[in-house]
Amino acid sequence: MKLEKILPYSHSLLEKAAATGDVVVDATVGNGNDTIFLAKLVGPTGTVFGFDIQQEAIERTKEKLANNGLHDSVILFQTGHENLLDFIPDLYHGKIKAAIFNLGYLPKGDHSIVTKPETTITAIEQLLEIMDVEGIIVLVIYQGHSEGKIEKEALLQFVTNLDQQKAHVLLYQFLNQKNDPPFIVAIEKR
Ligand code: SAM
Repeated sequence: MKLEKILPYSHSLLEKAAATGDVVVDATVGNGNDTIFLAKLVGPTGTVFGFDIQQEAIERTKEKLANNGLHDSVILFQTGHENLLDFIPDLYHGKIKAAIFNLGYLPKGDHSIVTKPETTITAIEQLLEIMDVEGIIVLVIYQGHSEGKIEKEALLQFVTNLDQQKAHVLLYQFLNQKNDPPFIVAIEKR
């Protein structure tokens, strides 16, 4: 298939937005796959701020980063992304080039702990305040579990109503795949 699949496309969007030395955010660290990708993207002179509410996720990610020799540029917080304004120092405000939310539950973890629409939306609003112009927020939205369907509806309503003078909003989705596959919403700050 020539069309990019969802996860590779989420990374392509991050590559468009950020490069060596930049400041980026992983809003849902989970098993650390996106954190590793971002740490490689910005390199040792860049900074990745990572958030997750679960200790298990933070520990798995710390271990993965250490195994890859990438921990120097990554700062992890065990707190909700809805608190990111309190945790990302003022010094970095206006400099964030990219952020990713890989929503839903922690694979190989507790499936009852999931991202929630209200807190996801609060975090997006905070990021739009402190990102650089042309900074991109990538949302990977999973609609396969029951809370995922509710989150999807709330997020689509929220992003559809973002002022087009303030942000460009993109939907990237395979329309004929079965079993509620994940899809992407990307928001570029204007
Ligand atoms: N990006 C991850 C990766 O590459 O492995 C996968 C993330 S996983 C699908 C979703 C994660 O969101 C879970 O680890 C969960 O604990 C976390 N999460 C749930 N609510 C959160 C919140 N309010 N703030 C930050 N993380 C949250």
